[in-house]
Amino acid sequence: MDRIVIIRVCEIFLKGKNRFYFVNLLEEHIKEALKKVKCDVKKLQMRYLVENFDESDYEEIVSALLKVSGIHTLSPAYGVKSEYEKIRDCVLKICEEKTGTFKVETNRADKSFPIHSVELSSTLGGDILEKYGDKLKVDVKEPSFVVKVDLRENGEALVYTDVIKGIGGMPVGSSGKGFLMLSGGIDSPVAGYLMCKRGMKISAVHFHSYPYTGEAAKEKVVALGKLLSAYNIGLTLYVVKFTEIQEKIHEKCAEDLMITMMRRFMMRITEKLALRYGGQAIITGESLGQVASQTTESITSSNSVVKMPVFRPLIAFDKLETIGIAEKIGTYETSVLPYEDCCTVFLPKFPAIKPKPERILKEEAKLDVDALVKNALENVEIIEL
Ligand code: ATP
Ligand code: MG
Repeated sequence: MDRIVIIRVCEIFLKGKNRFYFVNLLEEHIKEALKKVKCDVKKLQMRYLVENFDESDYEEIVSALLKVSGIHTLSPAYGVKSEYEKIRDCVLKICEEKTGTFKVETNRADKSFPIHSVELSSTLGGDILEKYGDKLKVDVKEPSFVVKVDLRENGEALVYTDVIKGIGGMPVGSSGKGFLMLSGGIDSPVAGYLMCKRGMKISAVHFHSYPYTGEAAKEKVVALGKLLSAYNIGLTLYVVKFTEIQEKIHEKCAEDLMITMMRRFMMRITEKLALRYGGQAIITGESLGQVASQTTESITSSNSVVKMPVFRPLIAFDKLETIGIAEKIGTYETSVLPYEDCCTVFLPKFPAIKPKPERILKEEAKLDVDALVKNALENVEIIEL
């Protein structure tokens, strides 16, 4: 009895024109996610199998696969030679710990197997009842678990009961490349994850205001970047020094527009980095109306300085929904560690909630925008995670 993990992809991939592209890309990602474990990944027509691994690596394999976008479901299974006695022993072993009601379902791809599928299911059902009749009962309509037996064409049978939901979505990289504005907060890592899930390969850009914000703030973002890299199959983080720009805005411009103006600079710099490194879109963690800088007027203002599309996957999310995802993907604990974000430096007491475009332009004219952007772009630290 060999331990095997069955991986299924979303059926939509299997029908579309890009089928081979998706399936091959996903195979690459599965192999990359499992590169630290000794195992083989085999591609079948409708699924993949992870085989030849040590029992002790099982948990690690499943947890790595649950971070790969494009995987629809997983099943921990056993593989045995397609012989009735071997299948029966395996089925009985799988039922050892089970209670409640069950049914057996056989899929007989191997037409040379001497027993037909309906007959095999009922014979195995009888075997289960004979051994575990005191704790298990048959219920073909609403069983508490289903014992599946797949008779493969290669003469091997896969036996399993559990189906674990994967993250779904599409393989990372199948929907282009986006540049995520990554703060140390709760929202932007979730926004990045959602775009990965949608098939976008992401890079992250963080604005850092040393010495106003210390090394710990940067380390926190590096830690978040590392967590995201598991979903993104690696991640490049660009750390931009934002101090000069903030000081200049603070010195020369109206206090209530500080955040609006900072956002406009962040957007410009992110777009330039994306153009330089092959990005096609900007991603932010903004959610409509959450804070002063996320009103429709503020978003319009920051959006107007770039040409690239800006994706805001959280725009209609409640904070609690976002927190729920942050917990699920494992970024929440890091996001809530205390830190200083560059946006809290020089924070105005009364930020403009509905900044007027003419006023913003007038205030911005007091700065040499191009030179400030250029300087910031000359000093970007690149961290591969
Ligand atoms: P988050 O939880 O992502 O920080 P937030 O609700 O705190 O979001 P803001 O602080 O207003 O919202 O930031 C809005 C968005 O601007 C963030 O989601 C992020 O995409 C971007 N952003 C803010 N600060 C930074 C930063 N220092 N570096 C990079 N991007 C930033
Ligand atoms: Mg924030």
